[in-house]
Amino acid sequence: MAGEKGVKEQTLVLIKPDAIQRGLIGKIVDRFEVKGLKLAGLKMMTLDEAILREHYAHIADKPFFPGLAKFMQSTPVIALCWEGLDVVDTVRRITGITKAREAEAGSIRGDFAMSVSCNVIHASDSTENAEKEVSRFFKVDELFSYDKSEYMHVYAEDELS
Ligand code: UDP
Ligand code: MG
Repeated sequence: MAGEKGVKEQTLVLIKPDAIQRGLIGKIVDRFEVKGLKLAGLKMMTLDEAILREHYAHIADKPFFPGLAKFMQSTPVIALCWEGLDVVDTVRRITGITKAREAEAGSIRGDFAMSVSCNVIHASDSTENAEKEVSRFFKVDELFSYDKSEYMHVYAEDELS
C-alpha cells in the first residue's frame, strides 16, 4: 500500500520522546484525525541504534547525532501511518519546520515545541522517503486497509477515484 498515489498515499509520523513525556499524544493524533486523514497503522516501539542510523542516515555524521540518538531512545516512540490524498505534503505542513520556535502557529511544532531537537514529531519529507519509512517501521500485517465512512464528506467524488 505504501507509495500508492491518490487517497491511498501513505506517510510516516513518529511521536518523539518529548511529546510522550509531556502528555501530547492525544493532541497530536487529534490534529491528523480532524484533518480527515485515515490511520492505517499505529504502534509503540523502542528504537535501536540500527533503525536510528538508517532513519537518520542523512544526518548521522552531524555533531548533534549522538545527542539526538540518545533523546530518541529515552522513551519508546509511537509510530503512525497516515493515509490520504497528497498526505506526505499535507502532514509536513501540519508538522511545521524543524526549528520549532520559528514554526508557523497552527502547526504541531509551532504550537507545541520550542526546540530544534525536541520538536515533538517526525514526518516523512517526500513520497519516496515516506514509502521507505512506512516499510521501515511497519510490517505488512501491521498496516490496515478499511473503509472510512466519513470519506464521502472529506473528499469530493472525483478525488476519491
Ligand atoms: N535535529 C537536531 N539538530 C539540528 C537539526 C535536526 O537535533 O540542528 C534533529 C531534529 O529532531 C530533527 C531531526 O534531527 O527533527 C531530523 O532532522 P531533519 O533535518 O530531517 O528535520 P525534520 O525533517 O525532522 O524537520
Ligand atoms: Mg527529516
